[in-house]
This record gives sequence, C-alpha cells and structure tokens, in this order.
Amino acid sequence: MRLSRYFLPVLKETPAEAQIASHRLMLRAGMIKQASAGIYSWLPLGYRVLRNIERIVHEEQQRAGHIPVLMPTLQSADLWRESGRYDAYGPEMLRIRDRHDRDMLYGPTNEEMITDIFRSHVSSYKDLPMTLYHIQWKFRDEVRPRFGVMRGREFLMKDGYNFDLTKEDALHAYNRHLVSYLRTYERMGLQAIPMRADSGPIGGDDTHEFLVLAETGESEVFYDSEITDLKFGDREIDYDSVQQCQSVLEEFTSRYARTDETHDPAIFDQIPEDRRRVARGIEVGQIFYFGTKYSEAMGATVQGPDGKATPVHMGSHGIGVSRLVGALIEANHDDKGIVWPWEVAPFQVGIVNVKQGDATADAACDALYKELTAAGLEVLYDDREERAGAKFATMDLIGLPKRITVGPRGLEKGVVELTDRRTGESEEIKPELVAAALT
Ligand code: ATP
Ligand code: MG
Ligand code: MG
Ligand code: MG
Repeated sequence: MRLSRYFLPVLKETPAEAQIASHRLMLRAGMIKQASAGIYSWLPLGYRVLRNIERIVHEEQQRAGHIPVLMPTLQSADLWRESGRYDAYGPEMLRIRDRHDRDMLYGPTNEEMITDIFRSHVSSYKDLPMTLYHIQWKFRDEVRPRFGVMRGREFLMKDGYNFDLTKEDALHAYNRHLVSYLRTYERMGLQAIPMRADSGPIGGDDTHEFLVLAETGESEVFYDSEITDLKFGDREIDYDSVQQCQSVLEEFTSRYARTDETHDPAIFDQIPEDRRRVARGIEVGQIFYFGTKYSEAMGATVQGPDGKATPVHMGSHGIGVSRLVGALIEANHDDKGIVWPWEVAPFQVGIVNVKQGDATADAACDALYKELTAAGLEVLYDDREERAGAKFATMDLIGLPKRITVGPRGLEKGVVELTDRRTGESEEIKPELVAAALT
C-alpha cells in the first residue's frame, strides 16, 4: 500500500477523552472512530489488525476441530423466554421491537440460538461430539462503556459451543478449548493466563478466564509468579487425545491464579511470600462448562446408545476479538507509539523514502516495494511529500515491526537502513538483501 493513496487519519493531538494508552494510541493512529458511546467504526489500519486477530482465531479453532458458522446479531425474544434469560438478563440486553410488535434483541451471546439450531437438526449421539463457533458482533449495553474497544457496547466476539453426550466428553471439550486458547493468544504474541473465575449470567460450575496482565486491566488478580513462566510454545498436540488435553490443563492450572471473584486468601497465603502477586488484568476470553442448563430448558436431546433421549452436555467459550486489539496495544507500546507483534501487525514493513522526488530514491523504493510485496510481505510505503522526521514519527506511532529507510546518501554507498521497531536497532543493508532478511 502506498501511503499517498491510503486512508490513515493520524491525530497530532492526544484526544482528551482517552484515559489509557491503547485507547489514545488507537485514536491517534487513526485505527478507530467513535460512532456513539461504546460503538466504533474500524478505519483501515484498525480493520487490518482486527482481521488478523480473527484469522488467527479461525485457524486455531479449526485446528482444534471446531466448525465455523455465522448466526445473526438480532435474535427473537421467544428463544430467550424458553431459557428464562429474557427476564433474567437485565438492562445490559438491548431490546428491540419490530414493526409487527415482535420482541427482538441484539444478541449479547448465543447459547439459546445455537441450542435451537442443534435441537432442530441433531437427534443422535452418533453426531457427537460437535463444537460450533462463530465470530460475530455482540451488543451489551454496558453501564460504563470506556477505554475504547476494551469495553465497548458493540464488540466482536468469537463464541463457540460444544455439544456432548456425557459430562466427561464435555469436560474434554472444555480442556480442548483451554489448550486452543493458549495457542491462540501465544500466536498473537500475548501471554494470557487462565484463572479460576466465577460463571456470572452464563451459569455453570467450571470456568476459567484468560487474563492479560496490565496495570489498566479492570480485574483484580491474584497469582503465584511461577505461572508466568509457563509457555505453550510450539508443542504438538492431538486435540482428540483426552489425556494430552487434560495434562495441558493440569500444567497451566497447577499454580494459584484467580480473579477477585474466586480469590481465597487462606490458600493464597500458603504460597511463599516472594511469589505472591496481586495485580490487574484484562479479560480476553473465558471458557465455561454448564452441563444441561440450556439443553434441558430448551429440549435439546439426543438418542443415546441405549435408545433413550438424553439432554446434551454443553459449554460455551468466548474470545474478545475486538478487545484483544486494545489488550495487544496495552502489552506492546512505548512512548512513541504502538509496537505490533509480527503476527497481528497491520503491515509488517514500512518503507520511508526520506527524499521523495529524488529519482534514485524513488526508484529504489519502488523496487523494494514491489519485491517485498511479491515475497508475501505486507508493506506500507510512505511516498508522501513530507519531512523525513514526520514520516519517522508516523511509522513509530503506527508501530510496524520493521522499517526500511531509503535516502540518496545511503544509496550512494549502496545501502538502505533496516530498523527494528521494538529494539530500535538499525543496520545498513544492501537493498537486494532486504527481502531475504525479512522472510
Ligand atoms: P467483562 O467481565 O469484561 O464484562 P464478560 O465476562 O462479561 O466480560 P464474557 O461473557 O465472558 O464477558 O464474553 C467473552 C469475552 O468477550 C470476554 O472475555 C471479553 O474478552 C469480551 N467482552 C465482554 N464484554 C465486552 C465488552 N463490553 N467490550 C469488549 N469485549 C468484551
Ligand atoms: Mg460483562
Ligand atoms: Mg468477566
Ligand atoms: Mg467473562
């Protein structure tokens, strides 16, 4: 992409309404524009990051054997009356009436709708196990939408639902989700720690939240510092193996890690004092096992091997896709701007032409731009008639992992400069070696 033809409305001033770094930086880098309280338009740069996160979530869900679908944002109130949640959900639910006076709502989550799909089409245990998921906008009329996309009212969520014959199978689905979530966050360059949590309005007994440690997080968390040493890494996992998934769960829940809702000082105080941590975290996902709560209320049964109809065991599993954009910035920024991890960066490489209009510099930039793009990299070429200083400031603000600086002086020596956004380290390199250095 040539910046002269792109739409990147960066702001010079720090917007007064933004209280935390990620919100400030998303506004300043022209990633989002508020449409109304807690509702945002995604501008081109922000949209690219959102799509990258979605792509990783899709890939990891499907790697775990989960099946993508897409359900609507608007739902009929009748389904929610069946489960009893239409009245129970409270003012966070946006209720709408259509022209025929039918009660509708903008879905805050989809347990009822997916259970309805399941009961309409599945009747035998032979079709199980089954996990369906989608990535779709949700609406929750939060009392205090704030921090930009972190606590929006309209937000993008991946929500998945498992259907199993027995509790044991459903717990395997739970463990499988935990493993796939560990992989998902690590691929984005994030450490998200599974913590014992409270189930809230979804209901159920077993639940973990995934938290990214950050001072600006809204949750208070208590953990044993040893938990932060655990990495999933690139280990191979067979998602069908009950034993393998179970052992990953045991490993990653073997140290104390809880949110304030389930915190137990009596257990916490047994951890050696130098390992006890009280901190703040951002909830980027949550998994639940809730058994037959919805299947019983809504009549989602299958015929078991014994021929008897039995309600399926279910769980639901969410990832805050749009919140992750903010969480990633909270975890990856410095005083100059954002520092994107490679996997989610809107572009991986920026080219800065320090002397636009100089025939040699322009030609070298054009050649690099074409070559790197052909090599499969996503490149933003700053070809504007701007001062070099302003171009550097924009690149630092939008945080592309690598910058190539091209100018007549370097080209005379036969080199360009390759700079790493995170370390700030630069090296001189021959233009023809850049592609190899980046791929
Ligand atoms: P919170 O405690 O932050 O209100 P939640 O527990 O109500 O979140 P869940 O029902 O567990 O949310 O939804 C799954 C995920 O969706 C959350 O882990 C979070 O990452 C994301 N999420 C929830 N509410 C919002 C919101 N208002 N804005 C952005 N993302 C959200
Ligand atoms: Mg909530
Ligand atoms: Mg929560
Ligand atoms: Mg939650």
